[in-house]
Amino acid sequence: MASSENSALKASWLRICDRLKGEVGDVEYRMWIQRITLGPLDDDEITLYLPERFLRDWVRAQYGQRLQSLWREENPAVQHVELRIDKKAQRAAKTGDDAPQAEEGGGAANLPISAMANEDAAALDREEAVAATSPSMNEVRNDLAVPLDRRFTFDNFVVGKPNEFAYACAGRVADHPASPGFNPLFLYGGVGLGKTHLMHAIGLKLISRGNISVAYMSAEKFMYRFIASMQSKSQMEFKEQLRSVDVLMIDDLQFLIGKNSTQEEFFHTFNALVDAGRQIIVSADKSPSDLSGLEDRLRTRLGCGMVADIHATTFELRISILEAKAKASGTPVPPKVLEYLAHKITTNVRELEGALNRLIAHADLVGRPVTLESTQDVLKDMLKAHERRVTIDEIQRKVAEHFNIRLTDMSSARRARAVARPRQIAMYLAKQLTSRSLPEIGRKFGNRDHTTVMHAVNRISELMEQDPGLAESVELLRHMLES
Ligand code: ADP
Ligand code: MG
Repeated sequence: MASSENSALKASWLRICDRLKGEVGDVEYRMWIQRITLGPLDDDEITLYLPERFLRDWVRAQYGQRLQSLWREENPAVQHVELRIDKKAQRAAKTGDDAPQAEEGGGAANLPISAMANEDAAALDREEAVAATSPSMNEVRNDLAVPLDRRFTFDNFVVGKPNEFAYACAGRVADHPASPGFNPLFLYGGVGLGKTHLMHAIGLKLISRGNISVAYMSAEKFMYRFIASMQSKSQMEFKEQLRSVDVLMIDDLQFLIGKNSTQEEFFHTFNALVDAGRQIIVSADKSPSDLSGLEDRLRTRLGCGMVADIHATTFELRISILEAKAKASGTPVPPKVLEYLAHKITTNVRELEGALNRLIAHADLVGRPVTLESTQDVLKDMLKAHERRVTIDEIQRKVAEHFNIRLTDMSSARRARAVARPRQIAMYLAKQLTSRSLPEIGRKFGNRDHTTVMHAVNRISELMEQDPGLAESVELLRHMLES
């Protein structure tokens, strides 16, 4: 490599690092990006090194796409980014050595995973400490699991057509854990439809009968524990703790999409537990076959037991739930008000519950009964937000139509400008018109990384300033979507 070319690469890399730092924040930057060292450029492919497999997989999953697009922007000579493992990379980064030799397939993690795992784990612990209720004897008490919420019982779960099958399966597993055909139990459905509630209900029922150890945690928590165990070199302990429980529940498994090392760890835990006749319960927002981005062998195994979906609520179910919750509150709520709420708030039970709680709190506070008028007044903002709610699906449809591209290209990997630009516009509009977070939006666009979405939003804002034609298109789309 000519030395001028070399220093151009280094300069590009420094600028990329700077931009990434701005995008991901200091903590993530130190945790992941700073561990990357610059390697050689071969043809149009630049190699970046990370000191261990876990870090490499993580950086690839979280920042791979972003690194590639930043490189392309910074330096047209670079079209592809290859992330490789090199154990000396960390040292080289410190001493300023140049491109170390790669040795693919490095094994154990012998470098500390540092800051973030700990900080995040601590943050999670703080959150939990607030939400914690006193754990009972049989709940796994080491710091592995999260306490169960005593309110989420079978008794408090209102059953209707959309959830009766899932409810029945959950009841069956609570009564006869690890029975053939029900292991694993896979619960899936949209946000706020009762997956977590049912899992806690299973756990609570199991431990109430004694002598069984139950561990519940979100997939996110599973990942942080896993990272923390690597950092403190206590992987064996982590594995043993997990493998010693009778029932393991992992909530929101979709979080593991793209987190390959954690997925692998979960896969092994899963197999060890099922082989030992223990029960696994998993929830996700999609069925195993639709969880693209999870490894095939894991999806296959997840679908091997009982798969139960919770459908969107019906009007009848929403009314039943509201009636039950109003009754439990002790504050009288007229049927008209319940009907009104069940008509207006159709997305999920959590919001329905939130609206009712607000009404009741307000009535208690001002010392007046709940009426239809007070409801409309108290929930004004909330109901307004519901009225002109635009969904990401609608945005994708409208934008695809407008630019005459296929709807599937909104989530495809195609990078041609004719497809990529409309996709960026759709991401931009999703950010502007919905309350979805960047990672949520990314998931809707073919599981793209949140940094890709952020980049799209910035890029379109920039372009709208420079290109009146594009600005007009975007404004037109916004107008059509909002009205
Ligand atoms: P998910 O995990 O599917 O996103 P949750 O289990 O957290 O949803 O449910 C959201 C809220 O709605 C919780 O407070 C839960 O108690 C309540 N909820 C959901 N479904 C029901 C139901 N069928 N009966 C009573 N409460 C429900
Ligand atoms: Mg949940």
